[in-house]
Amino acid sequence: MMGEPKVMQAVRFLAPRRPFALQAVAVPEPGAGQVRLRVKACGICRTELHLRDGLLDLGRRDFTVGHEIAGIIDQVGPGVSSDRIGERVVVYYYDGCGRCSYCNEGQEQLCPDPAAQPGFTTDGGYAEYLVVRARNCVLVPDTVSLAEIAPMGCAGSTAVHAGRLAALRPGEWAVVYGVGGVGNALIQYAKACGARVVAIGLGDERLALARSLGSDETIDASAVPDVAGHVGSLTGEGADVVFELVGTSDTMRQSVSMLRRRGRIVLVGYTAQDLQVHPIELIVREAKLMGSVGSTLQDLHEVVDLVARGIITSFVGRSLPLERFAEGLEALETQTCLGRVVLEM
Ligand SMILES: [Zn+2]
Ligand SMILES: [Zn+2]
Repeated sequence: MMGEPKVMQAVRFLAPRRPFALQAVAVPEPGAGQVRLRVKACGICRTELHLRDGLLDLGRRDFTVGHEIAGIIDQVGPGVSSDRIGERVVVYYYDGCGRCSYCNEGQEQLCPDPAAQPGFTTDGGYAEYLVVRARNCVLVPDTVSLAEIAPMGCAGSTAVHAGRLAALRPGEWAVVYGVGGVGNALIQYAKACGARVVAIGLGDERLALARSLGSDETIDASAVPDVAGHVGSLTGEGADVVFELVGTSDTMRQSVSMLRRRGRIVLVGYTAQDLQVHPIELIVREAKLMGSVGSTLQDLHEVVDLVARGIITSFVGRSLPLERFAEGLEALETQTCLGRVVLEM
């Protein structure tokens, strides 16, 4: 088509343990069942650091990173109604095979052979344009900005998914260990479920934000020598649920220690470190240890609704243009930005 851009800027993952590179690549065209987005916002997630550092290696090379993507549909492929052009959407980043038992149940985050995973194995949202499957584009109400909804595509939907796996009940004590993007959304989700929340993090500013989002209690892990003991004294017996979002050996150990009988731990965060636990600690308390990865498409629909209704607030700390992505990654790594860093295109 005349006048349309043929190349665009994109931030590319080349290989593990190499910095991302801003490169000119071809503007993609939507295939059957797909749409093209003019990307407007893309959140910066810790997963990008894990990819860059080689901690997460899914075997693919040379693709555009970024999976917290919001934009406007500007072109549709065969089989997609042109009515969708102009829709403001946030992207569900799992595109399952559509044939396995997990996909059949809507658990595409568990699909062993996904067709695409924007920002993980296929081109993602640190770019001006992106092609994705039409059904993976979730409509965003006009009252919600694309910059605020972008991080909810991962941080928010991951929080809702973890919260659902934990099956939180009113009155339970939920510990949110780690107050980044997922943690801030989880505090609000747990409160909406009627739970009482203890947020654990580092520094006054972050914990003040956690309280403003509804956390009943906060613990500064840098100032309290016995974090698990402190949770015990706040809750009586211990936590009903611990959401572990940090993933160091130390924080995982403490999470086991702070659990009450029949308590549940949901592991979300990870580092290169191991979890070491003596089975007797789990056995005598009939504790449950579970993992939580990403989200379902339905979780994303739910978080968009929760944001639109003001039940979850997405906290954007800084907005940067695409070409300044490295500054955003550094702010996340050094924890110098309160709230999510979002690239805006
Ligand atoms: Zn599948
Ligand atoms: Zn993410």
